[in-house]
Amino acid sequence: AVSVTGLVKRFGQAEVLRGIDLEVPAGRVTCLIGPSGSGKSTLLRCLAFLEEATEGAILIGGEPLGFAVTPDGRRTRLPSGRIRAVRSQIGMVFQHFNLWPHMTALGNVSEALKTVRRLGRSEADDRAMAQLRKVGLQNRANLYPSQLSGGQQQRVAIARALALEPKIMLFDEPTSSLDPELTGEVLNVMRALAADGMTMVVVSHEIGFAASVGHQIAFLDHGQLLLRGTPQEVFRKPRHARLDQFLDTYL
Ligand code: ATP
Ligand code: MG
Repeated sequence: AVSVTGLVKRFGQAEVLRGIDLEVPAGRVTCLIGPSGSGKSTLLRCLAFLEEATEGAILIGGEPLGFAVTPDGRRTRLPSGRIRAVRSQIGMVFQHFNLWPHMTALGNVSEALKTVRRLGRSEADDRAMAQLRKVGLQNRANLYPSQLSGGQQQRVAIARALALEPKIMLFDEPTSSLDPELTGEVLNVMRALAADGMTMVVVSHEIGFAASVGHQIAFLDHGQLLLRGTPQEVFRKPRHARLDQFLDTYL
């Protein structure tokens, strides 16, 4: 589970996240929706510690991420070993797949197993192959990214994140750069992962996916969480005016 309290993120003068409180229950799918610029990516990046929050606290499985907060509210940076250990529980998938072009699908998935996890070549390749099988790409293992469709490339990116055995998976608009006919295969992989009990936070404009797979919907607007609840609660009419406006604009 992930627990976010009072999260504030400023870039210079700009306050991009303005006091976020969010519980991400273990084994559940939390879908984060909201207009462009509302702070969705920034929130995910804070959860992955790719960005450091300005204020507030993030707990990953009860462990503080990055900073410890004392009872009187002071923050101290944790030692880098502690940060790395907590961070290693998080896997992230981006809109642009960011695969290494000079490595095969198998190479992309096995690389971190060799360099970060220090596994030997054959064990790393075995584990990478198992992950490629999970996303339906065991027959594409030796192809390079340029030889794969966008949907296949994104599935390799998912396999690459899964290979490091994260407890929590973060997805930032994983289908937004795909042609519509390739979106389904990626959403299907995510659906299977959810059914498997993975804890997931998904930023997506695929409202149908959010409504059918999400256990929790969080609606972010101007750096604040305006709404949070089950899809039934959040999408039920009469809807919150800002949500209605958002859905009208994006659907
Ligand atoms: P989109 O739907 O377009 O991806 P988003 O909800 O993911 O939008 P963010 O990317 O989190 O929005 O950006 C929120 C705000 O923070 C924007 O106004 C953006 O310009 C600003 N921002 C993000 N990263 C930085 C940065 N590194 N430096 C300065 N401002 C930033
Ligand atoms: Mg974004």
